[in-house]
Amino acid sequence: MRFTMMKFLIFGPPGAGKGTYTTRLKEKLGIATISTGDFFRDNVKQGTSLGVLAKQYMDKGQYVPDQIVTGVLREWLAKPETQKGFILDGYPRTLKQAEDLKSLTSMDAVINLVVPEWVIIERLSSRRVCPKDGTIYNVRFLKPKVEGMCDKCGTPLIQRPDDMPDVIRERLKVYEDMTKPLLEFFQKTEMPIVSVECTEVDIPPEIMVDKILAALRGRKLIE
Ligand SMILES: [Zn+2]
Repeated sequence: MRFTMMKFLIFGPPGAGKGTYTTRLKEKLGIATISTGDFFRDNVKQGTSLGVLAKQYMDKGQYVPDQIVTGVLREWLAKPETQKGFILDGYPRTLKQAEDLKSLTSMDAVINLVVPEWVIIERLSSRRVCPKDGTIYNVRFLKPKVEGMCDKCGTPLIQRPDDMPDVIRERLKVYEDMTKPLLEFFQKTEMPIVSVECTEVDIPPEIMVDKILAALRGRKLIE
């Protein structure tokens, strides 16, 4: 059986490593990826008209409205590079977007990364960042040469407010509240949900990617 097109969604809580896995899956499967979040950030950086529009919402900490995000997606789906298949990251975020997506194209499956809260907290709370140049360290596995100092510039490292355990718990709750109705929606529409568990803090990305590929193969979604 030939799989001419592979169209997946990827869901995963903050700190799950979704971006890393998506990049590796893209290479292994030879398909395109789009992160709607990255897309808007790029447009903001380049100052495109879409970027200017999106920035008004992002500056207020609001989501870019469904209509705008879906418009972007529609354009992207028409591009040559998406014709072999793709992974969508960061979309849909709302039921309206899930319905829009269904009317735009038929997806093959949701890759659902399941990571326990303690793993996420352990991972994110061990992250340190240089406030001057943004270099990221990890006190568990990516330690600076001198404890608490940036290798590049010697500035004392800080913990981002976003990476404090209480804030992480809140972010995870927001994610759960958003994802639950979406997974229910996909279940109702009989889209396969391929859940892949990660119960280790320092699991190497290639191991997780192999687990994801094995799970997709197990469901006969890829060769
Ligand atoms: Zn630095």
